Amino acid sequence: MLQDIAPHHLHIEYTPAEPQEDDLVFAFSDKGKKALLRAFDDTGRLLDRPVTDEYPVIPKLLFPRVLDYRSQLPDRLDGLRFLFRVDETAVFLDTGAYDESMALPGYTWLSTRLFRRGLPQEFSFAGATAWHLSEWYRTTRFCGRCGAPLKPDLKERAMRCPSCSNIIYPRINPAVIIGIRSADGERIILSRYADRPYKGRALIAGYCEIGETVEETVAREVMEEVGLHVKDITYYRSQPWGFDSALLMGFYCTVDGDEAIKRDPGELAEAWWCPRSEIGDLIGTSSLTNEMIARFRDNG
Ligand SMILES: [Zn+2]
Repeated sequence: MLQDIAPHHLHIEYTPAEPQEDDLVFAFSDKGKKALLRAFDDTGRLLDRPVTDEYPVIPKLLFPRVLDYRSQLPDRLDGLRFLFRVDETAVFLDTGAYDESMALPGYTWLSTRLFRRGLPQEFSFAGATAWHLSEWYRTTRFCGRCGAPLKPDLKERAMRCPSCSNIIYPRINPAVIIGIRSADGERIILSRYADRPYKGRALIAGYCEIGETVEETVAREVMEEVGLHVKDITYYRSQPWGFDSALLMGFYCTVDGDEAIKRDPGELAEAWWCPRSEIGDLIGTSSLTNEMIARFRDNG
């Protein structure tokens, strides 16, 4: 999965320091979710079109460094904010770049979807996490209690109100991904979303509501989206998914009683019982969804 970057490690501890020449800088544009990057295909040529299921290139990514900023954009160095570290490399956010008006020679604005498959994987995971923090910083500028402009806290990753001392921490949206097995253990429910750009096969998924356990979220989402009762709800693994500011928690469960799917057409364009033998190949191994489908295919 995207976050499985060992022997590398993303140190999320808040240990700000002065930017060094080789430290990474992420600049994002919220329009179209883009990052300032240089991307190459497997033959070393610059990528000239979006990576899709029909064009499944593993892109090699190059990211702006502090030295690029020193030589090309020295007046923007003051706007760099420490985010976290990947091994010894500190990662900074250009807090001034939320649109594509900025140019850095050699780099272009490319979709953050490249982080799902891009290499080196540790920096792609850093990119998804940096996007998550960038979105939070961009939308957390004024105190919700008194309206005063917020300032970054000096000791922890938080925004602080200098007027009323309100503290706001990064927002993480908890969500569940659900593998629903048939009673005989040989089929799983796959689906395709309605009204979303992602047209691949998905599992049932949804955000946790206030006041419910994650197991209750699983039972509620299954009932809402495919109209089934489930039992034996078992936790599998989790995944930080910065693209949606989410923390995904994967569960398997077994249908309880009637197996006839009653699909919610507002959420799902399709939902069907797929036998293990018909799952076939999955493109991309970065998502918890694909890992859970592959695991069911191989092990039941
Ligand atoms: Zn305040």
